[in-house]
Amino acid sequence: MMEVSEAVAAVLRETWPFEPQAILLLDALGLVLAEDVCANEDSPPFDKSLVDGFAVRLADCVTPLPVIEIVAAGQVPTRLLDCPAAIQIMTGAPLPAGAEAVIPVEHTSQTIGADERPLVALPSSVTSWKLGTNILRRGASTKLGDLVVAAGSELRPQELGTLAECGLSHVTARRRPRVAVLATGDELVPVEQTLGPGQIRNSNETMLCGQLLRACAEPVPLGIARDERVHLRERIDIGLQADVLVLSGGVSMGDKDLVPSELASAGVRQVFHKANVKPGKPIWFGVLDRGPNLRTLVFGLPGNPVSSLVCFELFVRPALRRMMGVSPAESVAVKARLTVPHTTKGERPTYQPARLEWQSDGPIVTAVPWVGSSDLRATVAANSMALFPIGDQTYEPGSTIEVIVW
Ligand code: AMP
Ligand code: MG
Repeated sequence: MMEVSEAVAAVLRETWPFEPQAILLLDALGLVLAEDVCANEDSPPFDKSLVDGFAVRLADCVTPLPVIEIVAAGQVPTRLLDCPAAIQIMTGAPLPAGAEAVIPVEHTSQTIGADERPLVALPSSVTSWKLGTNILRRGASTKLGDLVVAAGSELRPQELGTLAECGLSHVTARRRPRVAVLATGDELVPVEQTLGPGQIRNSNETMLCGQLLRACAEPVPLGIARDERVHLRERIDIGLQADVLVLSGGVSMGDKDLVPSELASAGVRQVFHKANVKPGKPIWFGVLDRGPNLRTLVFGLPGNPVSSLVCFELFVRPALRRMMGVSPAESVAVKARLTVPHTTKGERPTYQPARLEWQSDGPIVTAVPWVGSSDLRATVAANSMALFPIGDQTYEPGSTIEVIVW
């Protein structure tokens, strides 16, 4: 039986990053940029006003000035300041040539001159203002040729916005993996159905699709497969057309646990079955080669909901990261101080649902009470899993524990 680290390494050995491709900017949220993006123009593209006010030459501000033009954002000035005058300007509008500063409108008073033309009076202290006050110069944010977003960056809303500012409609990134989700079990019914005797709802499908969406993958829910060979195989064959097939249930030792043998008969090569982990020991992983550079990864997650949840984070998530070019692909644990004593009966390393909180002196972690791997409800209070190594032991408050955030 493999240790978790060996099993994750085995998954990653079988997982290839996708080829980068052009992806529409708005479809790229959460993906990883595959190429450096450099600016092909300055930003801002012109000197502009940062306030609503009056563009002036500072030395002119000792007397009220005639207002010779009004420039709104989106317009361009037609006049320049080559004699004592002011040009009224709105935030974001291009600066007229000759202007040295923009005086905010709230520092000014406007009147009408004897000739019926508008005048603006400015406080005399303005003459000592710095050149360039309230002006953003062309290229102040980004100069032509600057590296704007580096390859390897996660595309968050601010990266997408910055790339939009640079005029990109597409980015080069690795696409989202399509992941088929197949729940197995004769006891399962769709979530909207009233339960009959012996039945439970197929909660794993909803949970796993949610985990996939958070991982920036594209879930393809395939519904429920009965614990019956022909029906199961039919659904497996559909799922094997995706980049990844995630099954839940049917991988343990029961007579109705048909998933490993049906995957084998569908041509899926087993890489491992079982890992030294609690919950999730019966985890199954294999690969189907579908052509040159084309393969489907197959994860058989144990059906107990917390086992499915934990095994997805431990084994499926790193594979998705590798496909999308996220580095590192492995989950990164943080170290946190335990808040209350915790006793383990550790015949296997345990990934215990836990609550991680950030305090001014570092992270703290509290194990959430649960009654075992079917107790999904307990995980509602959790935001992470705390790793307790093998062995019977009581961990005192203050002990340093490794935690993986969900
Ligand atoms: P199995 O791995 O098929 O032996 O299932 C283990 C336990 O998980 C059983 O109690 C199942 O009823 C439960 N289970 C299996 N699949 C699901 C599912 N899709 N949603 C919720 N519980 C499930
Ligand atoms: Mg089952």
